[in-house]
Amino acid sequence: DWNWAKSDDAGLPPEIDTSKPSIARVYDFFLGGKDNFAVDRQIGEMTLSIVPDAKEAGQANRRFLRRAVHYLAAEEGIRQFIDLGSGLPTQGNVHQIAQEVDPAARVVYVDNDPIVLAHGRALLATNDTTTVIQADVREPEAIYANATLQRFIDFSEPVGLLLFSILHHLNDDEDPWSIAARLRDPLPSGSFLAMSNFFDAQDEHPESHKQAEVMEKVFNEHLGTGRWRTREELMGFIGDFELLEPGLVPLADWRADPGESWERSATYYTFSGAVARKP
Ligand code: SAM
Repeated sequence: DWNWAKSDDAGLPPEIDTSKPSIARVYDFFLGGKDNFAVDRQIGEMTLSIVPDAKEAGQANRRFLRRAVHYLAAEEGIRQFIDLGSGLPTQGNVHQIAQEVDPAARVVYVDNDPIVLAHGRALLATNDTTTVIQADVREPEAIYANATLQRFIDFSEPVGLLLFSILHHLNDDEDPWSIAARLRDPLPSGSFLAMSNFFDAQDEHPESHKQAEVMEKVFNEHLGTGRWRTREELMGFIGDFELLEPGLVPLADWRADPGESWERSATYYTFSGAVARKP
């Protein structure tokens, strides 16, 4: 029974620390989930007091993920995905999106937060095309060498590498550019990278730039992480992969479904997405 985390921390496994906020649980709060604790909600509420449409930003991220994964499965024939920093199970997980296109599509979820493992295993227990492993994105070689991952992923076939809202939780001194390169390099030609990141729009949108600065301070002070990066910095994650149209854009601008809308507030331009193909 994995409902233990829903309301209080009685009977929690010891590796789940409810005295400190966790990225996965704060994000769950923004998505309207129930797998978060008082310490996580505190940061969530603080963020909402500064950025009233922060929940829309989280939802826009999930919608972008849905469009990108569906596109890769349906239009590009991708049948195996590695979802790094996958987060807690929510509505519309990667395996559900990909398996709508092909029930045999394989997905490996990777996260370093033990709560993701606990909930992920429960959700996926019945699905033999999908698995979840606990690993750190800062160790790409260890992730690709993981025996479980290797049973699901065939490195001679194109892979969909998903980096959604994960690299902005690495600081510059952890060299996310090197990490992204080491994740891209072993993939065969025809593989794809899809990513979303906090975005510093700089002169393009001065209001958004100001908001990015404020949020970066809040996140670092209270969550210990969070980088809003410039276009140039984010393009560094793509390396020699070829950017698909419409490029690196606000999440809702990436091939939006008809009728999908989000007010073009300051927040709109603080979160961007891209999909790119390995030549
Ligand atoms: N990818 C999902 C999405 O975009 O909807 C969830 C994003 S959530 C904001 C970030 C996730 O990355 C969290 O679940 C967190 O535990 C995970 N994470 C943060 N640092 C990580 C690291 N060094 N290695 C692996 N996962 C990490």
